[in-house]
Amino acid sequence: HTQAMDPKSPLFKVILLGDGGVGKSSLMNRFVTNKFDSHLFHTIGVEFLNKELEVDGQSISLQIWDTAGQERFRSLRTPFYRGSDCCLLTFSVDDAQSFLNLGNWKKEFIYYADLKEPNMFPFVVLGNKLDVDKRQVSREDAQQWCRDHGGLAYFETSAKDATNVASAFEEAIRRILTLDNRADHLIYTNMVDLSTQRGSDSSCC
Ligand code: GDP
Repeated sequence: HTQAMDPKSPLFKVILLGDGGVGKSSLMNRFVTNKFDSHLFHTIGVEFLNKELEVDGQSISLQIWDTAGQERFRSLRTPFYRGSDCCLLTFSVDDAQSFLNLGNWKKEFIYYADLKEPNMFPFVVLGNKLDVDKRQVSREDAQQWCRDHGGLAYFETSAKDATNVASAFEEAIRRILTLDNRADHLIYTNMVDLSTQRGSDSSCC
């Protein structure tokens, strides 16, 4: 079982999905450590960081999962995706292909997380690398995609200069709180225990 560090604050699991290189671990690192280029983790296939924060006066423990080394850890997807309270679908505004792949990431998440009501699930879309000069994806196209997918929240972020990173995670929390205020977020029973999974990724699921 995983419990919030502060037993009074609910624990929310948030997962970042998107193509390799769009900046998922940089966003997570920026949000949790407020640093850009010194990654604390990313050496094994799947990892998470915790952060305690307050949103609209409520204390929250956030557990943010990154998906580095996706391919190697393919079979971990089910326990990894399940129990997520929010999915941050991430692309890079300077990489059109990463935007085109958003739909696949969303479908994959819905399937492996076994979402019963995908339309009720809080997806938030992040267009990262806002600081770059050459955009390949316009803000309008991204906003349209979000409208076409049921009115998802959209944030343009830069992990490099910290633009909108905190706002995006806070909005994710607000969406979780709005959609789902149940007390059973305090404990997750289906969190994967990486200590028993490492090195044996074919034995799972
Ligand atoms: P991941 O594979 O999605 O986790 O992507 P990473 O976080 O490893 O980032 C991939 C590359 O993009 C690295 O070289 C980062 O330094 C760079 N990067 C990440 N976020 C940004 C950003 O907001 N702006 C710019 N210019 N580069 C970024």
